[in-house]
Amino acid sequence: MGENRVEIIISKSDMQKKTLEHKRAGKTIGFVPTMGFLHEGHLKLVEHSVEDNDITILSIFVNPLQFGPNEDFESYPRDQERDKKLAMNAGVDYIFMPDTAEMYRNELSFSLNVDRRADVLCGSSRPGHFNGVATVLIKLFNIIQPDNVYFGTKDAQQTAIVEALIEDFDFPLNLKAVQTARDPDGLAKSSRNVYLSPDERKQAVHLYHSLKLAEEAVLNGIKDTEAIIQLVKDHIEEHTNGHIDYVDVLSYPQLTYISELQGKVIVAVAVKFSKARLIDNIIFSVND
Ligand code: AMP
Repeated sequence: MGENRVEIIISKSDMQKKTLEHKRAGKTIGFVPTMGFLHEGHLKLVEHSVEDNDITILSIFVNPLQFGPNEDFESYPRDQERDKKLAMNAGVDYIFMPDTAEMYRNELSFSLNVDRRADVLCGSSRPGHFNGVATVLIKLFNIIQPDNVYFGTKDAQQTAIVEALIEDFDFPLNLKAVQTARDPDGLAKSSRNVYLSPDERKQAVHLYHSLKLAEEAVLNGIKDTEAIIQLVKDHIEEHTNGHIDYVDVLSYPQLTYISELQGKVIVAVAVKFSKARLIDNIIFSVND
């Protein structure tokens, strides 16, 4: 367990030195990358890391590279003081929170392109998003050199891409995927939930309801992908004023199109409300 004391580190080289010190002393390092404005979902990842590792490092960095020109980089919610308290109480040992100038000291000479798993779901409505995610994660993995990294299945496409990133570039670390933390009514915890109006907050639970409906339909024998997609769309359209960005059913973690549901599948949705775009998904196995 962490000892109720957290050290804040701003500089990349200080972070690298600290982590090397711990590794040379034989300690294991768990790493939880975040964009801050912490909620119970993030804290669940921390909980797993604290349990599995000697040292837990949480990063807070709102990465400009993964936001499109018309997205919410500027307005992304931030509250460093609250984050520090929550992280400390959860047992985090170090918070790594560089500013943009520190993270990207020079203009990058390389650009990365995620070829697989990135052209569907959020990748198709947020072009370049996963290239930005992969770039910052390569940097963070090299700075922090963790033994274990923790990602939420709430961002299942991101987790699938990170799995491929670790495999393709032979990062010597384990990916641990953690189940989505939800509000009591089922809404997935998200930093962006604060931007829902009270009415939208009530409607937003129907993202989860629609996914459960899909799972139930599959359990009842419906295997046709298009039928499941339609079921989910109809439910969201009937119960929310949100604009559907996508509803899709794909194999997981390959994220390829399947006409008939079989094996491990993901049903994923993205819905735009007036000030927040919410995503959610459900992953389950379909037997023959
Ligand atoms: P973010 O700060 O939104 O970039 O998220 C940082 C990490 O927390 C990612 O691995 C997310 O998948 C994970 N995460 C976000 N929301 C949840 C949630 N409701 N439950 C579990 N993990 C989550």
